[in-house]
Amino acid sequence: MNDLNRVINPATEEVIAEIPMADTAVAEAAVEKSVIAQREWIRMSLSARRDALRAIAGTVRDHVEELALLECRDVGKPIAEARGEIGGVAECFEYYAGVVDKILGDTIPVEGGVDMTFREPLGVVAVIAPWNFPLPIASWNIAPALAAGNSVVVKPAELTPLSTIRFGELVAALDLPENLVQVVTGPGRVVGAVLTSHPSVAKISFTGSTETGQAVMRSAAGTMKRLTLELGGKSANIVFADADLSRAIKAAPGSVFGNTGQDCCARSRILVERKVLDDFVAGFIEQTQAMTIGDPESESTHLGPLVSAAHRETVSSFLTDDVDAVLAGNAPDGPGFWMAPRVVVAPDPGSRIVRDEIFGPIAAIIPFDSEEEAVRMANDTIYGLSGSIWTSDVGRALRVARAVETGTVSVNSNSSVRIQTPFGGFKQSGFGRELGLAAIEGYTELKNVFISTAE
Ligand code: NAD
Repeated sequence: MNDLNRVINPATEEVIAEIPMADTAVAEAAVEKSVIAQREWIRMSLSARRDALRAIAGTVRDHVEELALLECRDVGKPIAEARGEIGGVAECFEYYAGVVDKILGDTIPVEGGVDMTFREPLGVVAVIAPWNFPLPIASWNIAPALAAGNSVVVKPAELTPLSTIRFGELVAALDLPENLVQVVTGPGRVVGAVLTSHPSVAKISFTGSTETGQAVMRSAAGTMKRLTLELGGKSANIVFADADLSRAIKAAPGSVFGNTGQDCCARSRILVERKVLDDFVAGFIEQTQAMTIGDPESESTHLGPLVSAAHRETVSSFLTDDVDAVLAGNAPDGPGFWMAPRVVVAPDPGSRIVRDEIFGPIAAIIPFDSEEEAVRMANDTIYGLSGSIWTSDVGRALRVARAVETGTVSVNSNSSVRIQTPFGGFKQSGFGRELGLAAIEGYTELKNVFISTAE
């Protein structure tokens, strides 16, 4: 281990932990230990592996408050949300405990024998996680990787490692193969570089920015690693005039300002049919102003701070003098990396606010005149992660849902993620799918076996 990483509470700017940063040797040793752990794991019975995943879920449930408070202080996430997210982590392990003995193959009709397929584990999986939903996103990858018979090395983001470190300790205290799940803290350019190039790592599950995802792809190419990449987004929330407008308005602020906008699925482009634009804008601003911004440890807080001073600077860079932004709330003065929500109505279609992922509390509301135009605008982005359609016309809902180039889309809802359903991106939002049974494909190789029945 080399330097210490000072972890800061973004709501107070206090140092809340000092974490050792792994160097190359530590990261390499973790991979080598993971190879041994995987051999032991795959020799265990199906029922023992199922019970192990249940035990992980159980220990997370027993420590929900502790893990939620770590997440709250580390990310600046409101405690009520953090609690819900950690509950989701336990659910994720419970779900994949049930999958362990349901990883099926096919029998395929062929001449001269019997042909069958098996899904074999890959070996060592490296999970590289972002700072916005630290333990939930790590769990979406750790749980299916383990269920499919792999071992895991997890690298949390430097800014927010605390919940993942504690999770690693809780898992290590269970009666599981030693080093089955290891947490290695450290910088992306050091630990990430080892994990993405080490010949004994079979797969990288990376969640982060599109730019870093491209670097991960390049590094992983040398050893032909399997990849799941969950990257950036610029999702559209399309509101048609025939929608239940009050429901759409009520749901919209949370879908862009939740987690203070630091959400890959943030619907930061709200496309509104021009006939209802004024009503939508007025309602949206009113609902946003009703959100409580402040102490993340208070149960009534809706929005906490941004994760760091540097990130607040990046987000603020979108608010140039030529941007006409409506301030829709009051943030505390500081200490803390606070930023109140901003709403920009009808921005220039070529502007950064419309095109780039902001990852902060800035929403663009953009008018459209026809279904065709709405679809064209929704697809006019390099990203394709999530999105929503608000309409009372079932035919239109299905037409638009099929036409938008995005991995997940909700009708009359702004939800994106369910443990049972596949989640992932089109275009430069990445590839591969997390969650649901689809995730298992990403953690297994398909093997074909032919047995001759010739006499
Ligand atoms: P980031 O790309 O800066 O970092 C993500 C992780 O990659 C961190 O753990 C970091 O240490 C590591 N890393 C950095 N350089 C690396 C390298 N060269 N090799 C290997 N690993 C390296 O992203 P972030 O700032 O933590 O997260 C924000 C981004 O993540 C946003 O773009 C957001 O949209 C995206 N995100 C996507 C999803 C999704 O599911 N699609 C979910 C959450 C966040």
